[in-house]
Amino acid sequence: MDQIITRFPPSPTGYLHVGGARTALFNWLYARNQGGKFILRIEDTDTERSTKESVDAILSSLEWLEIDWDEGPFFQSQRFDIYKEYIQKLVDSGHAYYCTCSPEDIEAMRKKAMESGGKPKYDGTCREKNMKTTKNAAIRFKVPLSGTTVLPDIIKGNIVFQNTELDDFIIARSDGTPTYNLAVAIDDMTMNINTVIRGDDHVNNTPKQILIYKALKHELPRYGHVPMVLGSDRTRLSKRHGAMSVTEYRDMGYLPDAVINYLVRLGWSHGDQEFFTRDELIQKFNIENIGRSAGVFDVNKLMALNANHIQTAEPRKITPRLMPFLTQKNCHPEQTDDLEAIIKTLNQRSKTLIEMADGALFYFKEPVEYDEKAAQKFLSTEFLDILVPLVERIEKLTDFSEKNLENPFKEVMDITGVKFGKIAQPVRVALTGGTVSPGIFEMIAALGKKKTVSRLRQAESYIKNRVKS
Ligand code: GLU
Repeated sequence: MDQIITRFPPSPTGYLHVGGARTALFNWLYARNQGGKFILRIEDTDTERSTKESVDAILSSLEWLEIDWDEGPFFQSQRFDIYKEYIQKLVDSGHAYYCTCSPEDIEAMRKKAMESGGKPKYDGTCREKNMKTTKNAAIRFKVPLSGTTVLPDIIKGNIVFQNTELDDFIIARSDGTPTYNLAVAIDDMTMNINTVIRGDDHVNNTPKQILIYKALKHELPRYGHVPMVLGSDRTRLSKRHGAMSVTEYRDMGYLPDAVINYLVRLGWSHGDQEFFTRDELIQKFNIENIGRSAGVFDVNKLMALNANHIQTAEPRKITPRLMPFLTQKNCHPEQTDDLEAIIKTLNQRSKTLIEMADGALFYFKEPVEYDEKAAQKFLSTEFLDILVPLVERIEKLTDFSEKNLENPFKEVMDITGVKFGKIAQPVRVALTGGTVSPGIFEMIAALGKKKTVSRLRQAESYIKNRVKS
């Protein structure tokens, strides 16, 4: 086969939802796996429902997911001349015809068909009139009156449509604008798309697109229709089931790698492997393993995967993703803050970046604000006897590594005879304000010498002031 060319053609009538993102992902992964091309096309022929905001939302969602495209975005609204040319070709070759039936005529024939127990269909009034006019006339495709149209689906197998069941569908409206199926078929054809992976809600459109391909004597792309994503109650996934838009997951502190890992598993498998890095997905993705049964969206599984990805991602990759959440919490790290070290102390205990940002706040907040109860209990006068020699020793350290930090503690334990368990908690309160934090040595190493010393001194004055009053 030639170079694989796939596409993602969203209609910009809303945000990018998780089902659409999965379709984009499958096409992107397949193109990347095959060294092919992935084309982005915006299907904005429905001018009333298409908006610039939706286009922007879709593009930024794809960018966030790091699903990049090789060509486009192409806009159908800018391709009307191309559609016109092909519509004319179809008329000239006798595959399409002008139809002057009014909406009322059509309504009447539908009613009639239904009354006699048939499907509501166009009755072919204008089919053999061979009209040459374009004035106020729609153009219909001449569907063969007998035989079948077969969709050789690479996921579902052959799907056979009786041509008698298909309407002579409109390809151009009376104002000359193309209809959806015409535009899709012509675009796929002229963009040399050879692999179409999309939701199975498009199965019923496909025979129409195939008929257009055949009329234009063009080789068909390979079609693969993927079962829709379902909600927990096994109905089609919708807002009722929770957050639907990709940007909501971004804003809830998910990593794009976790989201794509989760989405790919809603319809594709590789043995029973659940965790995949992006590179692994590109390496392993194939069409053969796209399943025939619908995936059920489970936000708890997505969150568990997110935690896994946070645990295993390189801290330097997390840094730029964590920053907006810190900013949101009015927290602005300085140049001297070692964000990677800070992330390392939190990545085993955060399910989302919001949790991580919450956990990181104490690193940046100066002076420390004590939790009242914790301060009462732990920042006591007895602690001064530990604190003073401890801070003196910490101040003298030149190598502020986790390992080296144990020494001042050991020395203070030796001179005072106080056990580590009794030292760690007051130190934690002094450094963080509360009683819960990452492991004491890794936390101090990440906090850095300057902040550690100044916070221990702050605690010293706090205790001394309390004694005075
Ligand atoms: N524009 C269509 C949609 O957003 C996709 C059409 C296609 O994949 O052929 O559902």
